[in-house]
Amino acid sequence: MSSLNFDVITLFPKAFELVENLGVITRALEKSLIKVNLHNLREFGEGPYRQVDDKPYGGGVGMVLKPEPIYKAYESIRKSPKSKTLLMTPQGKVLKQKDLVRWSTLDQIIIICGQYEGFDERIRSLADEEISIGDYVLSGGEIPAISIINGLTRLLPGTLGDPESLIDESHNSSLLEYPHYTRPQIFRGMKVPDVLVSGNHENIKLWRRQKSIERTLERRNDLFTEKKEIFQKKDTE
Ligand code: SAH
Repeated sequence: MSSLNFDVITLFPKAFELVENLGVITRALEKSLIKVNLHNLREFGEGPYRQVDDKPYGGGVGMVLKPEPIYKAYESIRKSPKSKTLLMTPQGKVLKQKDLVRWSTLDQIIIICGQYEGFDERIRSLADEEISIGDYVLSGGEIPAISIINGLTRLLPGTLGDPESLIDESHNSSLLEYPHYTRPQIFRGMKVPDVLVSGNHENIKLWRRQKSIERTLERRNDLFTEKKEIFQKKDTE
């Protein structure tokens, strides 16, 4: 079985220890379904202090990652035939489950993590896609990169115990998932809905579908609007 290689360019490789300690991902690493290669940006820095950042032209606060060390780190990575390069930036396209699904058939994903005030604009030309993990600003691209590695790995065949659990999941069909319950049947006065213990699989299926729709309407009406737009576009095509 082929494995998915992540090549990450980062100033903080230690942050990625977290990847190995997140449940099912540990299993994927043990089974060699994924490999995480860390490229420490510092090693590609310039001069005796291995400088990787500098002041912005035109003035202003903060430091900016220089282009040369990132280009050098990037060029040191051997590219696979099915490879994509992702640049972590709050200015990128907001990550969606469908992106993870789309990338899950690749054999290499190169991730560039920014830091400080960001990176020199010329670094953008290395990227196939610029990705944001949401409309907020973190101090570096490491947590976004870990999110992508984690979300992608659980989609790979052989990672999850039961691949069925991927089917109904939230965001897979523009719907949020139905509520889950486990034992006990009554917990501090809160009861599991009768239908779930009825043994009637048809009714359970209907109930789950209904809850899924209700939940999405209540919490994320925007997902419905998105879906409607897709249908409308198809109609006019
Ligand atoms: N001044 C920049 C933000 C710098 S944050 C701007 O306004 O665009 C420093 C680095 O953290 C970024 O270069 C990026 O790699 C990472 N980062 C911060 N927030 C992020 C987000 N929401 N998604 C992806 N990467 C993010």
